[in-house]
Amino acid sequence: MATRKILVTSALPYANGSIHLGHLVEYIQTDIWVRFQKMQGNECHYVCADDTHGTPIMLRAEKEGITPEQLIDRVWHEHKADFDGFHVEFDHYGSTNSDETREFAEQIYLRLRDDARLIEKRSIEQFYDPVKQMFLPDRFIKGECPKCHAKDQYGDNCEACGATYAPTELINPYSAVSGAQPERRNSDHYFFKLSDPRCQEFLRKWTRSETLQPEAANKMQEWLGSESENKLSDWDISRDAPYFGFSIPGTEDKYFYVWLDAPVGYMGSFKQLCNKTGINFDEYWLPQSQPESGMDARRQEGGDADIPVGRLGAAGAADNADATSVAVTELYHFIGKDILYFHALFWPAMLQHAGLRTPTKLFAHGFLTVNGEKMSKSRGTFITAGSYLKQGLNPEYLRYYYAAKLNGTMEDLDLSLDDFVAKVNSDLIGKYINIASRCAGFINKRFDGKLTNIHVDKLVSAQLQTDLGYYKLKPSHITEVADAYEKRDFSKALREIMAFADSVNQFVDKHKPWAIAKETGREEELHQVCTLALNMFRQLTILLKPVLPELANNVETFLNTPPFTWEDALTTLPAGHRINEYKHLATRLDPKLIEAMVTANQESLKPMTESHSPTRHAEAQQHAPSPQSSPASGRGGERESQSSIPAPIAETISIDDFSKVDLRVAKIVNAEHVEGAEKLLKLTLDIGEEQPRTVFAGIKSVYDPEKLKGRMTVMVANLAPRKMKFGLSEGMVLAASGDTPGLFILSPDEGAQPGMRIK
Ligand SMILES: [Zn+2]
Repeated sequence: MATRKILVTSALPYANGSIHLGHLVEYIQTDIWVRFQKMQGNECHYVCADDTHGTPIMLRAEKEGITPEQLIDRVWHEHKADFDGFHVEFDHYGSTNSDETREFAEQIYLRLRDDARLIEKRSIEQFYDPVKQMFLPDRFIKGECPKCHAKDQYGDNCEACGATYAPTELINPYSAVSGAQPERRNSDHYFFKLSDPRCQEFLRKWTRSETLQPEAANKMQEWLGSESENKLSDWDISRDAPYFGFSIPGTEDKYFYVWLDAPVGYMGSFKQLCNKTGINFDEYWLPQSQPESGMDARRQEGGDADIPVGRLGAAGAADNADATSVAVTELYHFIGKDILYFHALFWPAMLQHAGLRTPTKLFAHGFLTVNGEKMSKSRGTFITAGSYLKQGLNPEYLRYYYAAKLNGTMEDLDLSLDDFVAKVNSDLIGKYINIASRCAGFINKRFDGKLTNIHVDKLVSAQLQTDLGYYKLKPSHITEVADAYEKRDFSKALREIMAFADSVNQFVDKHKPWAIAKETGREEELHQVCTLALNMFRQLTILLKPVLPELANNVETFLNTPPFTWEDALTTLPAGHRINEYKHLATRLDPKLIEAMVTANQESLKPMTESHSPTRHAEAQQHAPSPQSSPASGRGGERESQSSIPAPIAETISIDDFSKVDLRVAKIVNAEHVEGAEKLLKLTLDIGEEQPRTVFAGIKSVYDPEKLKGRMTVMVANLAPRKMKFGLSEGMVLAASGDTPGLFILSPDEGAQPGMRIK
């Protein structure tokens, strides 16, 4: 059997928060597939990295008072520990903030610019935050939806009516960073010309060449439109300073948009693995000598002289690809369906026109729901990887459950917590572990740990001979399981495996070793029954090993064998082979632990600290149709990095308690700086009384006093006056804040008059 050479990636988690159970769907799915390939004897490399650039990282670090480098370093270690905890075994786990990724990003850009001529500079008008002094990504601008007039909508689409629009179309836009009213300013941006006929033509072909699952291919056809249409728009790949990322060659203050260098991180991380191990990088990233991959534009033009040799492979090697016959390797990206757009359009188009290989296939999966609903912080179902492990829950149980639900399609999958407990206890413990625990003791105690000869001719009874033929694992079953793993239909693989476990249990029940053990003269029969059962247990373990690697290791120790390979499933242990003493391999899943975990995740809301999820860059979908997104997947939910975690709701009060607070509509007749006060503005408020009130409000960092003048807001009118260093404060204005930047004073709807009571 020829060994396949396979490079596998999972999407890069964003370095602004913790890994949660939604993310783990993908990493567990990928890890199972990779372990299966390795057991087959294939040369399979699994790389991933933290995705570290962009505005959200920059702002988060600033808020924590650390550098972005410090932030991403800390998060890298947290992510790595979580992956290790769930036995997700990368061959290399890097960071996009690496020299390797930077060099590849620069070289790809230069090839696209100089050889393919697919980069264009254009001046665009964008919102600029005058307080924060930065251009605002779409997701950091909010305002009223131009279509349905819902308030507080993001700059690129409306959550209320689903409309998409440019941020400049928002009504009364404001900066989500400072609350300031943004200004429009022009800036030069760099675009990748996705609308170029060459990209269109290539993508039409590529997305139909079985590189995508059928449902993904259909989605792409929608985005591409019919042959006569040109629905793709050019992609803005630059951002202005200040930005945490790689600067664009040949510019002063422009940076690559994080989504440009994120997938390049696959290459950067793999390059680091190659540096460590001597794997040939070029073999995996230069165009493959398959008829499909064809000639790329750059090679046709033949102009690559200025690309330094020995970095992106030798560019020259690409020209000689046919002559030297580069071995055919496979490249697979496992992703969530929310980032299909980036991986199925931008990424292959970039690679193709930079003279590199394109992915063999993309494997997209659906989102995770918990108990049939979107993961929810208030319900405690927004469960972090760390909190699962902290409860002492066995990570392999989750791997097993996910595997039982994953079928290789883009369907969402549900983690039903009750079903989780039931399935682990009935399948894993009740059916599988049970076999070993019922038979091992006899071998250990009665036969000195040694197995006996179970060749069919040596069996002591005709009944055993018949039953062996009936209950044993057949090669065709092993092939079926392998086939299901290969197709990522893990649910089918586990159904086949559990059907065999049922069969083994029937065999044991029928031959009752515990009964035979009590009868004299049946020692050899007992020995054979237990040996047969343990061999079948061994076969089950081999088939389950991609899903349960740690448990399989423990079984290897117990059975005293070298690490299982897939082919071992066809063999039996020889007569006289000595096994080790049986120790508990797994325990039943206690539902109390699950309850405790849910409670712990609810409680983690209280301190309002680090329970953000790592989510895709807040500005992710600029200039792209809005692909479906969900916080549950962890990568679609850009909003997560924006919306603050709601603070727990305070103690219940009666209506009487509430009516004690006299809230009034107030007009800000004057607002001014206070000499010597760092945070305060002095507001003069008209609430319909004879004399206006003076209130000192801590909103200086986010509001320009000039812009507050004439605005309506809300104040607490019956708060006891408070003597402050700068004067008497006669009330309080109300403002909203969360744990993300920004402070937002309230406004009544149009028509409200100063002094109106709010109740
Ligand atoms: Zn709307």
